[in-house]
Amino acid sequence: MIIAIKPGASAASVARFSAMIEKQGIKVHRSEGASQVVLGLVGDTTGIQEKSLLAHHLVEKVIRVQEPYKRANRLFHPDDTRIAICGLDGETRHIGAGYVGIIAGPCSVETREQIISVAQSVKAAGAGFLRGGVFKPRTSPYSFQGLGCGGLDLLIEAKNVTGLPIVTELMAIHQLEIFDAVDIIQVGARNMQNFTLLKELGSCRKPILLKRGYAATITELLMAAEYIMAGGNDRIILCERGIRTFESYTRNTLDLSAIPILKKHSHLPVIVDPSHGTGLSWMVPAMAKAAIAAGADGLILEVHPNPEEALCDGEQSIRPDAFERLMKTLQAYAALEGRLLKEEAHERP
Ligand code: PEP
Ligand code: MN
Repeated sequence: MIIAIKPGASAASVARFSAMIEKQGIKVHRSEGASQVVLGLVGDTTGIQEKSLLAHHLVEKVIRVQEPYKRANRLFHPDDTRIAICGLDGETRHIGAGYVGIIAGPCSVETREQIISVAQSVKAAGAGFLRGGVFKPRTSPYSFQGLGCGGLDLLIEAKNVTGLPIVTELMAIHQLEIFDAVDIIQVGARNMQNFTLLKELGSCRKPILLKRGYAATITELLMAAEYIMAGGNDRIILCERGIRTFESYTRNTLDLSAIPILKKHSHLPVIVDPSHGTGLSWMVPAMAKAAIAAGADGLILEVHPNPEEALCDGEQSIRPDAFERLMKTLQAYAALEGRLLKEEAHERP
């Protein structure tokens, strides 16, 4: 249940009102919007009468939240959430609320030369973050599983060389011990409903890139975010990466309609992965542009200097030169809507 407090109510009267509700065993989360205070009631609100709340002089509106998610709900948090991450180069990158964050890099870290060269080229082209998998969730146990800890060391080396914040997938909670230098933790499609993992990440203080499961509904994705948020971590980036349908031309069906739906119902930033969403490198630029045009707050893209020799997902990886061309177009697309890919952050409120 959401309660919109009348503009101008004093902090003390809102605190007294919240305490009165909390006496009924319900948690009240206060959130300050641009012009008014909104209270989110978490717990069993079935015993609370909307009419009696409306009779209170502080209350402007009462909304019974139909959706089962609260912390991820835009009703509870009207303003867009923006995630800010500072790189070792001193530059702060933003995702959400007017900022388009671009995460680029190989599917997997393979060699020092590979990851450093991709990192340098994506940075030169304007990417805000470097991706690189080191623990890979592969369908076959005989496929390349990632370089593990050694790969993470190489990814960290690329971070040190370029200053780019790094994004990599966490497959098991014990890996958190070695994720100190990781800036954004990716939860992959296959783990979107690993509730034990999600709960543990609730107490982690790093932003989480949560990918939609390939058979997950939009509500299920938001409920997965809710699991992490319920534990106290509200820095979540949602990612549409394609779902499984009867269409077999593409690896997945990239559900671009998820973008406006997620943005309507949630305040969390939404990014798109056109690499896994299509499985075909030649389609990536078209779908990347479409995602930004549809309102995505960013992209995660696979870029490899030599896709034909990639140990994982080469067929969907674009080359650095194609990435550079795409970035120029994306900058223009974002600017058309008054959004920024990076920098000038200090000029925005
Ligand atoms: C990846 O990003 O390389 C990956 C495995 O993604 P997903 O979990 O979306 O399949
Ligand atoms: Mn991949």
